Amino acid sequence: MAISAPEKDRIGRLRRLKYSEDDIASIDKIEYTPHDLDEPDFYSVQDIQACLQRSDLYISNPDVTSKVNEYQDLANQLIRFTSLIRRPGIVTPSAIERCMQMAYTAKLNSGCISRQVGAVVTDENYSVRSVGWNDAPHGQVPCNLRNRDDLLAGKDSEAYSEFEKTDSDYLGHFATSTVRFSSIPTKGQNNAFCFKSEFNSFKGEKNQVHTRSLHAEENAFLQISKYGLASIAGGTLFTTASPCELCAKKAYQLGIKKIIYIDPYPGIALTHILQGGTKNPILHLFSGAIGRAFHRLYTPIVAYKDELSALIR
Ligand SMILES: [Zn+2]
Ligand SMILES: [Zn+2]
Repeated sequence: MAISAPEKDRIGRLRRLKYSEDDIASIDKIEYTPHDLDEPDFYSVQDIQACLQRSDLYISNPDVTSKVNEYQDLANQLIRFTSLIRRPGIVTPSAIERCMQMAYTAKLNSGCISRQVGAVVTDENYSVRSVGWNDAPHGQVPCNLRNRDDLLAGKDSEAYSEFEKTDSDYLGHFATSTVRFSSIPTKGQNNAFCFKSEFNSFKGEKNQVHTRSLHAEENAFLQISKYGLASIAGGTLFTTASPCELCAKKAYQLGIKKIIYIDPYPGIALTHILQGGTKNPILHLFSGAIGRAFHRLYTPIVAYKDELSALIR
């Protein structure tokens, strides 16, 4: 279960607890930066992002200004979950849960070896217009099916770019970094790699530009222009993560009115891009059940009609 608050509320709460700006920045750096399992300090710190990604019950706990029903919304969410735990299927999923569940299902299609994200775009009535996940453009081989040894041996040539196959400086760097992974084939696993990480270490950079994948949100938007479906102006974007700056800008330009997200990732996408100007989309932290919990909570044990008949026997 994940309980989260919008980024500005979370920061505000830490400030009220007398954390300095430096304290907050250093907590975020430790707990909110993506970690790799081979980092020595990994096992002794929290990885908030990974926890959010792995949860299947989400409770949203934003600041409430009203003092008369301060805990109403929180209580409603808890009552709903406990009722569903006691009696699966007693209510049906909300439109928001249904759409987020589709985004959650879509994310499993991603061939990215570090992170899977799903997105759904609907019109204003939550009628689904498109679905997307983070992946290489259609026609390019996803990262999970590519292989260090194939690239270096000149096999499966179509899976690698001209740059990867011909830039001798890059290839030299790549061959050196592959030495560390030389035992992988003997373990029966595909020796996949992330081009972005390789290229960044080659260049000594740390940026997100050289990813092979389109973002899930981007892919969902593009499906609509690719296949000519209906307009999404005034619609809603669902994402199992949260939109990055580039996707937030696209959502804004497309006239998306509402963005439902799971991971309140620290960054400027929300405050800088989505809250500047006159057509700002409404941002909603997702609350509800997805993934396995969606099925567990919403699948009735017996048909309700039969349950009622049994009660009057
Ligand atoms: Zn990848
Ligand atoms: Zn993005």
